[in-house]
Amino acid sequence: MRLRLTTHVRDAIRNHGARGYPNEVCGALLGRDGAAEGNGAPREVTAVVPLENRREDSPRNRFSVTPEDVLRSERAAREQNLELVGWYHTHPDHPPRPSEFDREHAWPWYSYLILGVAASEPGEMKSWRLADDRSGYAAESIEVG
Ligand SMILES: [Zn+2]
Repeated sequence: MRLRLTTHVRDAIRNHGARGYPNEVCGALLGRDGAAEGNGAPREVTAVVPLENRREDSPRNRFSVTPEDVLRSERAAREQNLELVGWYHTHPDHPPRPSEFDREHAWPWYSYLILGVAASEPGEMKSWRLADDRSGYAAESIEVG
């Protein structure tokens, strides 16, 4: 499984993460699921939709997408003739691995890109997909360009 980001998308996520530090930020990934065409092509992300982190109880370490976020992101995708292929969020001062909370709130199929941000500097980016039976994640390689 491969995820390809344009440099613009990579920079937009890194800038969003740095701006939001020390809070988590999140957003939607829009693009095309190339692998669905059966040619082994990567899933491509060509645009993002930054979202509000509405978790007021714990904005530093809790990310969750609301039904309104999903509707809004799907609408933005349709308007740009793209698909909603995943979600991104940041882990301020934590490595970019899905937490137990993340797993409980994730859906299969989507790409979950996580960016580590340490002392407001964007760091490592990783992407994950939840197994269909929700038992765990598989890492997805990231390409930029
Ligand atoms: Zn997380």
